[in-house]
Amino acid sequence: MKIYEIPPEDVYVELKTSKEGLTDEEAEKRLEKYGLNQIEEVKKKPLIYNFLANLYQLLALLLWAASILAFISGTPQLGFAIISVIVINAVFSFWQEYEAEKAVEALKKILPSTAKVIRSGEEVVILASQLVPGDVLVLEEGDNVSADARLVEAFQMKVDTSTLTGESKPIRKVAEPIMKDNESFVGFNNLILAGTSVTSGSGRAVVFSTGSKTEFNKIASLTQAVKEEPSPLQKQMNRLTQIIAIIAIFMGVILFLVNIYVVELPLYIAFLFAIGLTVANVPEGLLPTVTLALAASAKKMVGKNALIKRLSSVETLGSTNIICTDKTGTLTKNEMTVRKIWIPDEIIDVTGAGYKPAGEFSHDGVPVSHREVRELKLLMRSATFCNDAKLVKPEGADEKWKILGDPTEAALLVAARKNGFDWEEEMKKAPRIAELPFDSKRKSMSSIHQKSASVTGKKLNTVGEPDVADETNPGTKVAYVKGAPKKIIALCQQISIDGKVQTFSREEKENVIKKHDEIAASGLRILGMAYKILPYDFDDFRPETVEVDMVFLGMMAMQDPPRPEVQGAVEDCHRAGIRIIMITGDYGLTAHSIASEVGIVGSECNIIKGKELDSLSDDEVKKILRSGSNVIFARAVPEHKMRIASILESEDEIVAMTGDGVNDAPALRKADIGVAMGITGTDVAKEASDMVLTDDNFATIVAAIKEGRTIYENIRKFVTYIFAHETAEIIPFILMVIFRIPLPITVMQILAIDLGTDTLPALALGMGPSEADVMERSPRPRKERILNLQVILRGYVFLGIIEAILVMSGYFWVLSNGGWHLGESLAFSDPLYLKATTMVFAGIVTAQIGNLIGCQTNRTSTFKVGVFKNKWIIRGILFEVLVVLSIVYIPYLQSIFGTTSLGVFEWVYLISFIPIMFFAEEFRKYIARKVQK
Ligand code: ADP
Ligand code: MG
Repeated sequence: MKIYEIPPEDVYVELKTSKEGLTDEEAEKRLEKYGLNQIEEVKKKPLIYNFLANLYQLLALLLWAASILAFISGTPQLGFAIISVIVINAVFSFWQEYEAEKAVEALKKILPSTAKVIRSGEEVVILASQLVPGDVLVLEEGDNVSADARLVEAFQMKVDTSTLTGESKPIRKVAEPIMKDNESFVGFNNLILAGTSVTSGSGRAVVFSTGSKTEFNKIASLTQAVKEEPSPLQKQMNRLTQIIAIIAIFMGVILFLVNIYVVELPLYIAFLFAIGLTVANVPEGLLPTVTLALAASAKKMVGKNALIKRLSSVETLGSTNIICTDKTGTLTKNEMTVRKIWIPDEIIDVTGAGYKPAGEFSHDGVPVSHREVRELKLLMRSATFCNDAKLVKPEGADEKWKILGDPTEAALLVAARKNGFDWEEEMKKAPRIAELPFDSKRKSMSSIHQKSASVTGKKLNTVGEPDVADETNPGTKVAYVKGAPKKIIALCQQISIDGKVQTFSREEKENVIKKHDEIAASGLRILGMAYKILPYDFDDFRPETVEVDMVFLGMMAMQDPPRPEVQGAVEDCHRAGIRIIMITGDYGLTAHSIASEVGIVGSECNIIKGKELDSLSDDEVKKILRSGSNVIFARAVPEHKMRIASILESEDEIVAMTGDGVNDAPALRKADIGVAMGITGTDVAKEASDMVLTDDNFATIVAAIKEGRTIYENIRKFVTYIFAHETAEIIPFILMVIFRIPLPITVMQILAIDLGTDTLPALALGMGPSEADVMERSPRPRKERILNLQVILRGYVFLGIIEAILVMSGYFWVLSNGGWHLGESLAFSDPLYLKATTMVFAGIVTAQIGNLIGCQTNRTSTFKVGVFKNKWIIRGILFEVLVVLSIVYIPYLQSIFGTTSLGVFEWVYLISFIPIMFFAEEFRKYIARKVQK
């Protein structure tokens, strides 16, 4: 028998399992037999290829040519030196790329996929990799399917199979056997396959294939190796490096011509000079350093509960200027406590705290029990029957009551238990026979119960007392519903008052709504409850057939306090020029109360309901959004989020949008930064998002934005830092050409700086902490380049020229002390020449130390931040000092780099560069601060 041909009951037998699921021992055994449920990883290219790739890039090729020339021309030392440069460069780039890739891989592993299964009769959550054939999967809306399985139960189940079929319309799935032949598994509607996801409904399925045996594995091995697109910043950097390379080549050509025709050097030496200058001027390390800095930043964000899925999101976060946020769970704690209950026509106050089911029900100080008040009893049934949450008793003395499932529903259970209502007992008498799950569009949920006829053996009765517990009505089917009060009120024709069902008149409805608004204005989240008797033979359970003509019972109102961190985060946003727009499914007055409590809006605010939004044109919405007035979108559905995201995008805003449900996925994809909830979010939402909040907290978004802004600034800092030495390296060449002085710095020395001393300090700047004012400025415009005029002026021009003047002064100081005069030429091996060039080389390094300390901030004084607060700066300086001392004093390195030992006076001269560079930069910042004020 084929797995899709057998009836559900037999599926269990066929796969040697049962409704109770496997035991842990059996699962263990099968895991050993079938292996982990993982798709086979496509074999990656061995790392050596990545390494080798660095050896045949354009610049490397130029260098190879140069080294061959060096060998031919009889200077093998230079030839070997150039080869070692190629290798050092390749090692460095490779190491950075490797580190960055490792960091990205690590990010992917932080959110492991899980699956809900039945094991030994209990529903448990296990790692998806532990699934084995025979496991009974419990599937709900939003779940990813992680193995191939046969459905044995399915309620209104629809599945997105686009990963397998490319078809984006959800496919209806059923549990019934299907008899047909000759088709791939994908075509069977009673099978659900790994890689798909449940878009609506719920069900159970028994796993029959895992790991490499799944259909998905066949496809995955084709698509897995997709490489991540470079981020805009990486692209910018790439372009930048190219531009610099072109300039460098241009300068190289000029130098070449000058050397041949003016200086009249031999051709091969002129060529080597030209190549040397060209290569020296290209900031090879820039791109890998940027990538590594982004990866390090992403890692830091994880520590702050924001999981970034793509490096490019790190930079987008930095320019985010609007956050569209949910209310429940993101701004609030999602710890619901029922505070008030309304039944016609009294308010019952509920005491107690948290999820601990201890508290009192009272009306005007008089205790109230569901045993005496019929509406209250039915209300309790609605509240606990339309409910998929669970309460978990504390294990130890110092533990708290916990919940499983939706906090809104759990709060209802807690309230019921406070009043001694035993829903488990009630449900035993009238088990659930069908469920219409909550959906954010209907904003309601129904549960249909039937009292089994065998309890009393009496005849079935379809009319009579509308109470399922009524012993006279065995077999009666009763539908209970709970949901957004106004929606529920609209479903009702009748209301139960003082135990009697009567017409629910228009005035009565308005009265109830008035009461509702009063309660909502205090920030409480309210649910309405109703019920209805169904004919005993009724079996067409759809919202359109069940949720009509109901009897209204009352409302329960719960408190969900704002998260304490949110208020501060909202203030940060306002200072940082970031707008916050609340888009919630909750009621307008409730939403407004919470929004004003955390400071998102004031006491006056424009509440736009979902329905109103539908009637507005895009232009009208734009006008409202542009007016800058406080606005909240209430009673919104996910489609509204999508629409708002599109409208904001057309306005060129950079939007972060939160979401958790299946239907939020399109809006999450549309927004620049889709933010999914890590705890309450569905797999589908997480997959569609760019960032996952592992704590569901609004404040985390703000922290991530801060981190994104910081890294952008930090990248600017190290670009500035690197640019400064470029000028100090190029000016000597220019002076050589103009004044016919001996070349002040050799190609090998330049390479020692570019690929040696300056690498770690650049990274150190990338790791730096945020400046105090990162969240005091407006967001960076989308089009702003990392390399703007300011960076060029500060790096290439201001710092670069000072540095060049300093090192050239050192050069001439040593030369004139040695008796040299302008116009005189020196041999490359002349001790005076060696000393002078060593001065320039070591001078650039010491000047860069001063530059490094000064570049830590853009505007704020370094003293204010703390000169060595960033521990990496100290390491960077130590590294620079170590490298420069080795090159200057180790005889072998001296011969390679053309250096010689320096004396005390020379060092005193060089060390003075540190404060000069540093204070020059501090002075610039001081002026910048003055000018800005
Ligand atoms: P939000 O999370 O922004 O408050 P939701 O879409 O989750 O919005 O909920 C919208 C409304 O639907 C709520 O205000 C409430 O009235 C109702 N609701 C929420 N959860 C449930 C549920 N489990 N069962 C019935 N109704 C619910
Ligand atoms: Mg919600």
